[in-house]
Amino acid sequence: MTQSTSTRSWIASANGHSDFPLQNLPMGIFSIDGSAPRSGVAIGDAIFDLEAGLAAGLFEGQAKAAVEASLGGALNAYFALGRSARVALRERLLELLGEGSTLRGKIEAQGATLLPLAADCQLHLPAKIGDYTDFYVGIEHAKNVGKLFRPDNPLLPNYKYVPIGYHGRASTIRASGAEVRRPKGQTLPAGQTEPTFGPCARLDYELELGIWIGQGNDMGDAIPVSEAGEHIAGFCLLNDWSARDIQAWEYQPLGPFLSKSFITSISPWVVTAEALEPFRRAQPARPEGDPQPLAYLLDPKDQANGALDIELEVLLLTESMRKQNLPAHRLGLSNSLNMYWTAAQLVAHHSVNGCQLQSGDLFGSGTLSGPDRSQLGSLLEITEGGKLPIELASGEERKFLEDGDEIILRARCTREGYASIGFGECRGKVVAAR
Ligand code: MN
Repeated sequence: MTQSTSTRSWIASANGHSDFPLQNLPMGIFSIDGSAPRSGVAIGDAIFDLEAGLAAGLFEGQAKAAVEASLGGALNAYFALGRSARVALRERLLELLGEGSTLRGKIEAQGATLLPLAADCQLHLPAKIGDYTDFYVGIEHAKNVGKLFRPDNPLLPNYKYVPIGYHGRASTIRASGAEVRRPKGQTLPAGQTEPTFGPCARLDYELELGIWIGQGNDMGDAIPVSEAGEHIAGFCLLNDWSARDIQAWEYQPLGPFLSKSFITSISPWVVTAEALEPFRRAQPARPEGDPQPLAYLLDPKDQANGALDIELEVLLLTESMRKQNLPAHRLGLSNSLNMYWTAAQLVAHHSVNGCQLQSGDLFGSGTLSGPDRSQLGSLLEITEGGKLPIELASGEERKFLEDGDEIILRARCTREGYASIGFGECRGKVVAAR
């Protein structure tokens, strides 16, 4: 069993690593000192350089084909190969990097194969993202936000039938660490009837799970829900930065537009379905009285193990906290089990009308708040639209984000008898409007 805690690596930092033990093996794209971006695998405090490994003759068969498809600075072609190539590569990496590997000497002799995952390694977007769709399947978030606008009727009648989503902007998705320039736009000041133009005054984050599309579909061919899981290449963390004042003025009748498209940040490592296997769960039962999903969204196997138990955390670090060496403040601790629809249902729904999904497309789950106050995934919810400021150890207050504030997303999967895995961080620091 490759997931058990007893499976160890000869790379010491991998054993017990909070994010990247041998059981995780997420893929990403990195570069060093401005070199051409290339593919690698995170293992402990290191990156295993797949291109160097290929040159050293460490791969053959399907695993070799998988590595070859990962070259060129984007994982789209690797994603398109689907599950069997991904599993073959994983099996080979477990052999190469596991304790007792007969190739340890060869890998260590190749100085370029194993690189420290340190400051001089820059991580990039793992794929060229053709299309990005943001869903709204965090039901607690949908209820909380709905309540702010419609106290008596928070969820609209379609919510429990349709996995609600909108088409986002792919061109402004950035890997963790990219600065977040405060956007400018139109807002309607309270009590006014005409908008003003200027920097966003209600900048917010959204804690989301990102879903990478593996094999796509031909236009016109729907992906059945029973096969939809096979079309997912992996998962990441996603921060759907949101300008709430711009959003409030622009969103009717067609939904968010410029309030979201200025930047979306993601964690750069692609955590695979295989690494997440021990953390799959039954989709939580719908509350009494909720409708069953329509037939095209309902698959018994997906209902039995299509949900993911991933702990999701958001932290805030302000400029002042940084200067005072204070630890980041936890804004929320939630879980991906708060998704009202499974990832497979999102894929099935997105393609049911014949819409073509392509390798490297990215979905956002929607903000994944939990039912408790400590589990909220946005400031909009925590401060109830700016009414209840949060207090920080630095003596500061926040209703929305200020320039210099950094938001850090983390994720962790734990289960008794299995090695814990994480996603690495998704960070972004707000800088002043230009
Ligand atoms: Mn969102």
